[in-house]
Amino acid sequence: MADVRVRFAPSPTGHLHLGGARTALFNWLFARREGGSFILRIEDTDLERSERGLENELVEDLAWLGLTWDEGPGRGGPAGPYRQSERAALYRAAAERLLAAGKAYPCFCADGELARKRQERLAAGLAPRYDGACRSLGEAERERARAEGRPESIRFHVGDSRERRLSDIIRGEVSFPAGMVGDFVVLRSNGLPVYNFAAVVDDALMGITHVIRGEEHLSNTLRQLLLYEAMGLPKPLFAHLPLILGADRSKLSKRHGAPNVSDFRERGYPAEAIVNYLAFLGWSPPEGGEILEIEDLIREFTLERVSPSPGVFDEVKLDWVAASHIRRGGAARYFEEALAYVPAEIRDAYPRERLREIFDIAAENLPCFSRLAEETKPFRPGVPEIAGEALEAVRGAGEIFAPAAESLGGALDWSAPAIAAAVKAFGARAGRKGKTLYMPLRAAVTGSLHGPDLARVMEIRGRDDVLSCLRAAARSVSS
Ligand code: GLU
Repeated sequence: MADVRVRFAPSPTGHLHLGGARTALFNWLFARREGGSFILRIEDTDLERSERGLENELVEDLAWLGLTWDEGPGRGGPAGPYRQSERAALYRAAAERLLAAGKAYPCFCADGELARKRQERLAAGLAPRYDGACRSLGEAERERARAEGRPESIRFHVGDSRERRLSDIIRGEVSFPAGMVGDFVVLRSNGLPVYNFAAVVDDALMGITHVIRGEEHLSNTLRQLLLYEAMGLPKPLFAHLPLILGADRSKLSKRHGAPNVSDFRERGYPAEAIVNYLAFLGWSPPEGGEILEIEDLIREFTLERVSPSPGVFDEVKLDWVAASHIRRGGAARYFEEALAYVPAEIRDAYPRERLREIFDIAAENLPCFSRLAEETKPFRPGVPEIAGEALEAVRGAGEIFAPAAESLGGALDWSAPAIAAAVKAFGARAGRKGKTLYMPLRAAVTGSLHGPDLARVMEIRGRDDVLSCLRAAARSVSS
């Protein structure tokens, strides 16, 4: 096979949506696995919506995911420029060739006229279709239209509209019945190409071997196949990725929470967890397994294992995948990245080594680093605020705090096992064990009834801090 060249071709509309990220990822994985090239092409001919700032946001998200491109904006390459707004002359030249070959014609129909005809067809129960009004204008009529200053676009003459077939790598044989499309504009009167035309011209000039994109583009693919034929260009292979649905089984959109890559980055999800999760939206590895590093994905990824049926975006599953990565990597891998999310009062209260231990405890079940604000609460130094159920637990065990402080004050060393032993011995004397012993102690020290192993928490908090919490609890119930 010729060297694989694939592209991700987003229209810059701001931060990268999860669906776009999945498309980029599958292209990237395929290129990396095949030793090919991954090209970033910015489809910014929709002038009203495209701004450089939006492109920057998108590029930032791709870079954060680690989806580096071999050719594209900021990197250059032999097939540039890589922004469609900088390729107008190429589209013009390609449209001129179609005109010269009699496969396209100038069209002078005004937007209003087209809209009216479209409505008429819809009202008559017909699919909207260009009626061919300008197809057979003579040269004199064209000159007259130009002299009248009518807008002039270039329209592709579909001509032969027999059935077309596509052998899609993911979906198998796809058939497009005869007569599905009418003549369509390729170059607008403002000189800019429509998406289908620009995509074909660019995919051909950039030597793209595989077009991997969302299933929603299938109807465009027919138009693109017709253009390849008319221009005598070799067709790339096509792989249409399945849709991504929300939990309610409708197509994933903003409504389903936070489907932008940048939202997950801000919440402190590790990039490799997002990549891992996205890879499973439509694909699965041959050997099973769910927690995969990027190198594993590159090794195992093939388009043949992409399923045609939709993937469902499930935030609970994403959290599970992310928590698995964080647990596996622990402080050794994630501490530096996570530190910024640890509240300052905790960061400032402990030496680095202790902070790493706190991170490792929190990392037992942590999907994203922004949760550290909550998960590190038991380690907040000083007497906690105690309310609700925690307060009831303290009140129900008023007699234990002063003797508990005394017993822990006398513990020989301040390690978790020694603390656990001291608590147990004290409990035996006080006639308490299990929950009835630990709940009130935990409530007094952390302000909560739940949390990580209490002896570890006490060890990290330090003897002085723990004793002052127990004494404060003793005072609060006696007053
Ligand atoms: N600009 C198109 C999009 O963002 C690209 C589709 C394609 O990959 O051809 O959906």
